[in-house]
Amino acid sequence: MRNVSLFIVIVLFISCGGNKEPKTMDFEAFKERFILDFWKQNPGWASYVGFHDYDSLLYAPTQERRDAEVSFCKSYLDSLNQFDFDKLTRAQQTDLLMIKNQLESSIWYTETYRSFEWNPSNYNVGGAFGIMINGKYAPLEERLTAMSSKMEKMDAYYEAAKQNIKQPTKEHTELAIMQNKGALDVFGPSLIDSVHASKLGQTEKENLLTNIELAKMAIQDYIDFLENEITPTLEEQSRDFRIGKEMFEQKFKNDIVSSYSADEIYQKAVETKKKIHGKMFELTEKMWGTYFNKQLIPSDTLVAIKMMIDVLSLEHCHRDSFMATIEQQIPELTAFVKEKDLLYLDPEKPLVIRKEPAYMAGVAGASISAPGPYDKFGDTYYNVGTLENYTESEAESYLREYNKYILQILNIHEAIPGHYAQLVYSNESPSLVKSVFGNGAMIEGWAVYTERMMLEEGYGNNSPEMWLMYYKWNLRTTCNTILDYSVHCNGMTEDQAMDLLVDQAFQQEAEAKGKWRRATLTQVQLCSYFTGFYEIMQLRNELKEKKGEAFDLKSFHEEFLSFGSAPVKYVREMMLEGSEPQLAKSE
Ligand code: ZN
Ligand code: ZN
Repeated sequence: MRNVSLFIVIVLFISCGGNKEPKTMDFEAFKERFILDFWKQNPGWASYVGFHDYDSLLYAPTQERRDAEVSFCKSYLDSLNQFDFDKLTRAQQTDLLMIKNQLESSIWYTETYRSFEWNPSNYNVGGAFGIMINGKYAPLEERLTAMSSKMEKMDAYYEAAKQNIKQPTKEHTELAIMQNKGALDVFGPSLIDSVHASKLGQTEKENLLTNIELAKMAIQDYIDFLENEITPTLEEQSRDFRIGKEMFEQKFKNDIVSSYSADEIYQKAVETKKKIHGKMFELTEKMWGTYFNKQLIPSDTLVAIKMMIDVLSLEHCHRDSFMATIEQQIPELTAFVKEKDLLYLDPEKPLVIRKEPAYMAGVAGASISAPGPYDKFGDTYYNVGTLENYTESEAESYLREYNKYILQILNIHEAIPGHYAQLVYSNESPSLVKSVFGNGAMIEGWAVYTERMMLEEGYGNNSPEMWLMYYKWNLRTTCNTILDYSVHCNGMTEDQAMDLLVDQAFQQEAEAKGKWRRATLTQVQLCSYFTGFYEIMQLRNELKEKKGEAFDLKSFHEEFLSFGSAPVKYVREMMLEGSEPQLAKSE
């Protein structure tokens, strides 16, 4: 409940904050109503972002339900048309466009993409219940009561799921079986213990325990259905996990919201890979004597580059000082950004570095965890994975991957001035629409862009070692796009994928296998990194050309980030418009 009132306060604050135009006032009220309605339509998503009013809801995925969703979207699209776009502020215009995308995209997912028929892993309640069990947003009794009524709806939910499935893919069926088995654990002994430990009355407790049993039966029944009825049919008539060119283009348009088509981005990625290989070989040649003395450089350029990468990867920190190394680098990055005047970093919002919490364990590396849009005052953490459980050789292999050079690039990407800095800016334009429907390609694109920008500005002293490792890292982003597009649109096989990732992008076998699996289960998401990066670089070039001498890197960064996590395409439209001489801000 606290969350709701907080939300209303924020919205009122924005709508009173200087907008005297009645139309813009209306738009703020409209957004508020829309978001609340949207959560009621999507209770699972709502719990996930920290809005818990609809936790007890679980809709059975029937045809009637889908019809209702589509008419919800159509009616809100009609309402959007009533606003005079030109009368809205730039921030509101982007909000409007993002809501429109979301609604059109939902309709497309239901009517055209239709994964409710072919992706059995769409049906899984584990995540939603996991949030309710672990979340500390409400007293245990309140959460258990909501869970109990959600459980009562599970039987109808999984029955409808079974009705929906028609000729699914083998890959998504296997995933669904695995994930639903995992969901069974959520209803295990620790949940039963917390029922006993709660202050609920005896009858309520008994009801809950019965509902837990029924919930487990519903999940088990779905697993049995997938294992016994669906799996045997898959050899003969499973659907190809490749969605094909036409569907891929459409999904790209809906998910990425780019100025380019998927095909155009794929072509750019192929060109970029070629250029990167050229640059990498140049750098390798330059350093060869230093690292290999008189040994002849192999004529196969990819082999030569690989040898150089391997030798540079030996420079890494000790397993016990992994976290200390990161802790030491963050202030160095901050100092560099300040010294070069690249971006204002709010000193009031320092990044808290912590050891990865136990529930995240296993995902080694480093990641940002940010508070959700309904938890404005929560801390942002930089989670650093521990190498404690690694054997000597596992640790060595991991440390070679995150060697002296790559670790710095990772910190740029995740923290400063990458994801973390973007997030601070994004929170300063407090639009719930932008944080809920934040554009993945913009968010990832920014982090990837900052890697390049920092090196261009001289981070790493322009050493060939740093640049070579940067290109290796950038090649990963580029090849994610090539892989995704080639697999879904050009029928790329697993062997061809391994050749791309291992031989041409210098990845470890295990990493490449994981990437292949991800490409079979998802579509388009792997393109987001390169697409966002490419579009930001293009926009920067356009503005440089337009402004000439007046172009200022810091202002570019700050203005770009001021739009929140909106698609680069919209930010571009606004920034190119805003760069007209008569509108230019003097700073
Ligand atoms: Zn070593
Ligand atoms: Zn990222």
